[in-house]
Parts: sequence; C-alpha cells; structure tokens
Amino acid sequence: MTITEPGNDARVIAIDGPSGTGKSSVARKVACRLGAGYLDTGAMYRALTLAVLSDGLDPADAEKVAARAEGLVIDITTDPENHKVFADGRDVTMAIRSAEVSAAVSAVSAVSAVRRRLVHVQRQLAGGATIVVEGRDIGTVVFPAAALKIYLTATPSARATRRAEQVGISEPGEIAALADSLRRRDDFDSTRAVSPLRPASDAVVLDSTDMSEEDVVEAVLAAATSRNVGASW
Ligand code: C5P
Repeated sequence: MTITEPGNDARVIAIDGPSGTGKSSVARKVACRLGAGYLDTGAMYRALTLAVLSDGLDPADAEKVAARAEGLVIDITTDPENHKVFADGRDVTMAIRSAEVSAAVSAVSAVSAVRRRLVHVQRQLAGGATIVVEGRDIGTVVFPAAALKIYLTATPSARATRRAEQVGISEPGEIAALADSLRRRDDFDSTRAVSPLRPASDAVVLDSTDMSEEDVVEAVLAAATSRNVGASW
C-alpha cells in the first residue's frame, strides 16, 4: 500500500524504534525541553486493539478490524505532561497497556486500512504543529520529510530489562516471558508488508543500550541543535 497524502513535516521530530528502547519517555522529555507537543502513535493502535478485543473480535480478522477502525473515535492529547487517550469518549489511557492488548496490537496494526485511517488522523493532529511524534513508521511513512528523524535501538536483553523495570517485574521466568513477547512483537512489526519497522535512510540511529535516559535525551537535543531544529520554536 502507498500512503500518498502528504504530511506537513517541517516542525516534526520523528522518533521510531522497537519496543523497550525508552522512546516514550525520551520523546516526552524532548518535547518538554523544546516546548513542543508530543504524539504517541502506538497508543492509537493500542486503543483500536482494545476496542477489537472488547467487542470479542478476532484481531487477525482484517475485515472486521478495519470495520471497527472506521467506527471508532480516538482522541489523544498532545500535551507531553498530560498524556491521555480516549476511545469513543472513554478514558483508556491505562487499559491500553494490558498484556492482552500488547499481544494483539501487532496483528491489528498490520491491517492496511487501519494504517491508512490512523496515519490520516496522525497527520491531522501533528501536521503544522511543533511536535515530537513517536512510533514505528513516523520517519518513513507518516512524516517522511520530518525536520529530524531519530531511530532508537538497544539490544534485546537491555530492552527486556528496561521494560521489566517499568512494569515492576524481577522474577527471571517472568522477565524471559516478557523478552519473548517483545521479540515476537518486534519480529511481526519489522516483517509486515505495510510500513514495516525500519530506520529511515536519513535517520540518526542511537543505540541506547549503555546510555541513561538523560543521555539519550541530550543526544536527541544535540542532534536537533546541530540541524538547527527547534532553534526558533
Ligand atoms: O509504541 P507501542 O509499543 O505502544 O506500540 C504498540 C504497537 O503499535 C507496536 O508494536 C506496533 O505494532 C504498533 N505501532 C505501529 N506503528 C506506529 C506505532 C505503533 O504499527 N507508528
């Protein structure tokens, strides 16, 4: 599928990468430091996935998933200090983080009609604004001419450890299961036919394995400064 509708990219910082790299925290902090907005596109795919599961639909049934996407109103805030997601008016900010949603979201987000619809909403929300947008395809598809593109990566074990700390898991068996679910999601996201996860050719690739979150934030801000991004924002 080709998504041809142009994005308005001049004031967008795109942050892409696999799960557990710290994208969300970094993106939020960079947005705060620059006085910019923040858009978590993964939260939008998660909100749709929650609706699919709540309706008892099969996440692998592309037609039903696409129809559910048509009827769902997703509202998401772009304030980095007040991140909220609503689906059909209901606050789903916490509910979309469940293990069930995480396990089903890759199948839902691989449906091309779903992507067309959500990319359109993402461009409406972010286009023309001064904003940090995080996801999997922001630099490659949603805002291909973003002012700055960052691709954040880390080793699988660093990502699993980080995610385990976030969700308060310390038991080795549980960490191994978490690592497995991250790996499955990333494999699915990187190999899907539509908008697969991959770095844009002009992205700055940052390996955060041995970096603190603050180091990563500073590295993103340094990349922005060196390209004169955000200077007049
Ligand atoms: O960022 P997060 O882990 O919340 O994203 C959840 C899932 O949403 C990803 O694993 C991916 O399947 C999907 N996603 C996507 N494109 C984006 C953002 C997220 O396909 N731009």
